[in-house]
Amino acid sequence: MLKITDGQCGKCTHFGEHHAADNGLVQIRVSGQAPEGYTDECGHPKLESLHLRVAANSGCDGYSPIAKAS
Ligand code: SF4
Repeated sequence: MLKITDGQCGKCTHFGEHHAADNGLVQIRVSGQAPEGYTDECGHPKLESLHLRVAANSGCDGYSPIAKAS
């Protein structure tokens, strides 16, 4: 398993943005860990049309932290 830290795709609101309720994705966000090789689509407006797939431990300057549940 990979440990996902703040600033990485697995903790970005754009990671798998179009299926944010997906169980596997929710698990990654809650646990802060992702299986080796796990990738998902980046929904950032500048990248969305390219259907860029990124690893959970990738990152970019478009990072936007997931809103914490209150
Ligand atoms: S590539 Fe950038 S914008 Fe897309 S999910 Fe990763 S950190 Fe977020």
